Amino acid sequence: MEIKQFQELMRTVFFQRDAERGVMKTFAWFVEEVGELAHELRQVEARKASDKQQLGREFGDVFAWLCSMANLLDIDLEKVALAKYPFTCGKCRKTPCECENA
Ligand SMILES: [Zn+2]
Repeated sequence: MEIKQFQELMRTVFFQRDAERGVMKTFAWFVEEVGELAHELRQVEARKASDKQQLGREFGDVFAWLCSMANLLDIDLEKVALAKYPFTCGKCRKTPCECENA
């Protein structure tokens, strides 16, 4: 499955609920999920836990809520991501990036 398909799937499953909630409340959920991802990353950094599955789930949640927000604002994530990062670094135009202090 590609990004575009996943975003469409999220639209099919959640758009009605996302629309009722609205952009800013959906954004709040997104931020909460980013916070949970931050918590998991801290656990990994501190080597308190090495639960890759849980870490993966947090990445999935962040991405799902990002898709919900993009759907509410009619933004095609795959299109905008590829436009901004067209298979090369947007600054130095090298692959891999050779920018200093990146
Ligand atoms: Zn670069």
